[in-house]
Amino acid sequence: MSLFDKFEKNAALFNELSETGRNPFAVVMERVLGPTRAIIKGRETVLAGTHNYLGQTFEPKAIAAAQKALAEEGTGTTGSRFANGTFAGHKALEAGIAQFLGLEYCLVFSTGYMANLGGIAGLVGAKDAILIDADCHACIYDGCVLSGGETVRFRHNDPESLDRRLERLDPKYEGKLVCIEGMYSMFGDIAPVKEFAEVAHRHGAHLFVDEAHSFGVYGDNGRGVSEADGAMDIIDFYSGTFSKSLAAIGGFVASNHQALESLRFSSRPYMFTASPSPATIASASAALANIKATPALRQRLWTNIGRLHGALTQFGLNLASGPAPVISVLLPDRETAFMAWNFLLENGVYVNMAIPPGTPNATSLLRLSVSAAQTDADLDAITDAYAAMAEAFPGARVAGVS
Ligand code: PMP
Repeated sequence: MSLFDKFEKNAALFNELSETGRNPFAVVMERVLGPTRAIIKGRETVLAGTHNYLGQTFEPKAIAAAQKALAEEGTGTTGSRFANGTFAGHKALEAGIAQFLGLEYCLVFSTGYMANLGGIAGLVGAKDAILIDADCHACIYDGCVLSGGETVRFRHNDPESLDRRLERLDPKYEGKLVCIEGMYSMFGDIAPVKEFAEVAHRHGAHLFVDEAHSFGVYGDNGRGVSEADGAMDIIDFYSGTFSKSLAAIGGFVASNHQALESLRFSSRPYMFTASPSPATIASASAALANIKATPALRQRLWTNIGRLHGALTQFGLNLASGPAPVISVLLPDRETAFMAWNFLLENGVYVNMAIPPGTPNATSLLRLSVSAAQTDADLDAITDAYAAMAEAFPGARVAGVS
């Protein structure tokens, strides 16, 4: 047995798909034309599988701010937050996010992945326990591993299951952290954050909510599912990313607990990686200011969500959840998912394909991400392609719907 044997099975499939030129995991955006269009395989394609929820990738104010920072502060910080990589812009963005969320403390990390890794592994030690929703993202699982704490999974979106796990937890664990997400990105379903907070606190645990997909999107002020559920004041830790609604790269953890500040000298993913570049920080800051000043972006997103979710429902497609920025169509198996994904691309629409083991309950699905930047023409192209797909793939429809 060699180090490389384990790659063989998946490599064979990957290569076979790549040779046909129909591999969903090897797509190249040959030329980006704007927030919702790119050239893929030589043709103009509507992007309906990005996380550009508020359409900020080409926001002129964000581009101008990034260009200014690039010219004035250089291409990179060449250091970690802990050493020479904290510029005035990083501190200002932390203050801006804290203010946006109405929370006191905020730490900016280099990616959302690092924020969860560093937040969880920074807070939890070997004598503590983490209780994690079974459908949590890979980086939350990785944070659990890095922490060295005991990890206990509970049933997805089920506060009673959490209650039972906490009830039975060995009292030897000193601290307890419960991890959930606001909106889950595979199915687009949302968490009952308030109920989770109540259960966690009843057992002396703290609640950590990853709002990567819901920041800027849910709640009257765009603070996420925690806000929409009236739970902003009772959650303990809030994590997010710049790579979706803010259309940059980076991440953060925010809280009202001053203990969060201790992560600046104890969280390895904060201390031992280079900080986001000045241009990245500047564009994220400008996008944050823009989404705060422009609630119409959120309104447009929800209008688009309503239109697309309504159309796909009307086509009889088997949707994973109610209207949300992610609208997933469940497919009977992996092969149908590959074919349906290619069918949409051939019809000029790019979406994400997700298959086991990356999906809950071993489902295969096509994930459509809605954007405020999608124009009426984009929405028409998307709905036309899905209408044709519903015809061509009866397995994508709810049983009995023709
Ligand atoms: N949390 C969730 C739920 C995510 O889906 C993702 C990335 N898709 C992340 C965190 C990581 O964010 P980033 O891309 O900024 O690393």
